[in-house]
Amino acid sequence: MQTDFTATRALFDLPEGVIYLDGNSLGPLPRAVPARVAQAMTDEWGQMLITAWNKAGWMGLPERLGDRVGQLIGAEPGTVTLGDTLSIKVFQALSAALQARPARKVILSDSGNFPTDLYIAQGLADLLAAGHELRVLAPEEVEAAIDDTVAVTLLTEVDYRTGRKHDMKRLTAKAHAAGALAFWDLAHSAGAVPVDLAGCGADFAAGCTYKYLNAGPGAPAFIYVAPRHADTVRPALAGWLGHEAPFAFDPDYRPAPGTARMRVGTPPVLQLAALEAALDVWQGVDMADLRAQSLALTDRFIAAVEAACPDLRLVTPRDHASRGSQASFAHPEGYAIMQALIARGVIGDFRAPDILRFGLTPLYIGPAEVDQAAAILAEIMATRAWDRPEYHARARVT
Ligand SMILES: *Cc1c(COP(=O)(O)O)cnc(C)c1O
Repeated sequence: MQTDFTATRALFDLPEGVIYLDGNSLGPLPRAVPARVAQAMTDEWGQMLITAWNKAGWMGLPERLGDRVGQLIGAEPGTVTLGDTLSIKVFQALSAALQARPARKVILSDSGNFPTDLYIAQGLADLLAAGHELRVLAPEEVEAAIDDTVAVTLLTEVDYRTGRKHDMKRLTAKAHAAGALAFWDLAHSAGAVPVDLAGCGADFAAGCTYKYLNAGPGAPAFIYVAPRHADTVRPALAGWLGHEAPFAFDPDYRPAPGTARMRVGTPPVLQLAALEAALDVWQGVDMADLRAQSLALTDRFIAAVEAACPDLRLVTPRDHASRGSQASFAHPEGYAIMQALIARGVIGDFRAPDILRFGLTPLYIGPAEVDQAAAILAEIMATRAWDRPEYHARARVT
């Protein structure tokens, strides 16, 4: 293994006494981010004022950083741009896919998908009022259901709750064989597992930068459009910054060449500055090393928890090829157990109805943290320390 995970750990500012197993929901703060954001505020915004759009290169940030994100997900240069939120990018990609397959009416997804993906698809079908159907099957039934009625598959590679991982290459090939397009949500893949968008032949993909890419709360989403579609797709959200010549202020919309047409409005410059510094963490990280270490840590955590906590039921697949970078366990009192863990400095999260979720990120988590987290969980389970009124009170965000 070439990657030095002790060195990457030193690039993060984590609070003393905390074991952070929730980077799958909000990545921690890379040490270089505050200075870069401060520079964007004081030197760029403060001193350059509006001239910073040119002088500091703000206008080109979505494509410049899009290419850097693209390197982490196997995208061809020039195929990724940044902006908005993942929900909006799902809408854009799906609407583009449906326009490219006008004779087909089925959007095929699975019941493990994140709710926003399903809501957006349903909302889009309602808006189009053209007879589209969102078909939601069990994850293991999706492959057999890809037929010539399907316009687009709407799948999240790694299930946010269980960590189950689809075979992106196989399902994409199946979609193409049936004449359908494949959209992949990479929210729990980008920065978590090796992704090869170009090699898989994916048509569209999108994901967030605030999870495993550590760009901070509210950081923009990314969207990928395969080169063979990039100059023909019609973006449903035809914003001025996706125009071929925004500063011509032409009343007629003409899409920009390539994926840049998926830009909508003004880019979130301060969040992009945070992302720029956060991406530096990946210099010297080999994705194959990251994957090997993530699987080793997850195996270690699962073994320790299963040995000490017979009441917790593993819901993450054991098979390496079928899981992402997290371990999830079900328990009817999962919420209270997670609150007891957080009170002891082990931060994971809870996903309704009963799932304790632990993201294991080698960039800043090592075997010692895994062992300690498992020991603290074992102690909570053995003593029923979770059964206190304050741990049952539900907060707004779980
Ligand atoms: C986190 C997540 C989202 C979040 O979408 P936002 O618009 O960024 O809030 C969407 N889809 C999946 C699969 C996710 O895991």
